[in-house]
Amino acid sequence: MASDQPLPPGSTIGILGGGQLGRMLALAAARLGFKTHIYCPDAQSPAFEVTPNRTVAAYDDEQALAVFASHVDVVTYEFENVPARTAKFLAELKPLRPGANALAISQDRLAEKAFLTVNRIAVAPFAAVPDHDRLDEALAEIGTPAVLKTTRMGYDGKGQRIVRNDVDAGVAFELLSPKPLVLEGFIEFDKEISVVVARNTRGEIAAFDPAENVHRDHILKTSTVPADIGKKTAREARDIAEKIVTALDYVGVLGVEFFVLPSGRLLVNEIAPRVHNSGHWTEAVCITDQFEQHIRAIAGWPLGDPARMADVVMENLIGDEIGAIPANLAPSIQPHVYGKSESRAGRKMGHINRIGAKSRTK
Ligand code: AMP
Repeated sequence: MASDQPLPPGSTIGILGGGQLGRMLALAAARLGFKTHIYCPDAQSPAFEVTPNRTVAAYDDEQALAVFASHVDVVTYEFENVPARTAKFLAELKPLRPGANALAISQDRLAEKAFLTVNRIAVAPFAAVPDHDRLDEALAEIGTPAVLKTTRMGYDGKGQRIVRNDVDAGVAFELLSPKPLVLEGFIEFDKEISVVVARNTRGEIAAFDPAENVHRDHILKTSTVPADIGKKTAREARDIAEKIVTALDYVGVLGVEFFVLPSGRLLVNEIAPRVHNSGHWTEAVCITDQFEQHIRAIAGWPLGDPARMADVVMENLIGDEIGAIPANLAPSIQPHVYGKSESRAGRKMGHINRIGAKSRTK
């Protein structure tokens, strides 16, 4: 496929990762007439249930990767921790969208903060803690309270500890090391919001409305749209998201998480080079949802309209909460069940979109 030619229906999209995001991408791709091929090391992956084309193999199995690449026209992924070597190997065989650069930056908190800072996008104060010797220096620079995080492989609050004093810092360091760490100033934010943005191969950009996110036990619980923020803050959040995809020469959907300070000032917490949990509401109330938008973007198609047609609250169903479906379904609730065979505490099993809901769940 020439990179500027739209991928025709009937082509095959390769997806690395077989979780719920891969599953929702495969469903959206099918609606546009694409086949999908899922690559995942776990034979029990929920995405396998919605497409017959699968590879169960490790991400460093180059033989399996080469065969996978031969079956697909473009490669995308549903998680940001795709090993760099895997990304490089596949990118030499087929277009990899989003590209390896976006992966490399978003996999490493320090690389991400450096990228954002160079592009004049504000982040929390931070200092690298590559080893114990640098811990005191970082504490002196950042102060407490602070958050000590692993630079890589952190998600849903894993790989981070709050540090309230020097003793905490020592304990946190022992728990998280020997991985390279970063110390961030603890931000007394007013709220957390996120923007899901898309950019296609022609450089067209479309951002969804900001969502206001509430976490419970470090896991996203609800995304409420519209977010309770001023117009100026909403516009600024979208502007920053658009600036990020432009600077990355990005193709696909990307999630940007922000802290909103009491002053209304925004700090970027994190970027994710993929469809995002805080964008699941788009499926219920937008002309084009984030999954279709991602497929359109990576297929070189024109982007769809991200306009929102109703207020909405997305609520993640975690562990046994999945029992709410179908028991508690009202007509205005759109359910989504991920089809995971086993419900475990802390595991995202599905979500619901409460359409027209204006109440805020805190
Ligand atoms: P992260 O894995 O960096 O997205 O962090 C998970 C959650 O921890 C965030 O959504 C915040 O609620 C909280 N958090 C992370 N970093 C900070 C920080 N520097 N200050 C305050 N809260 C934080």
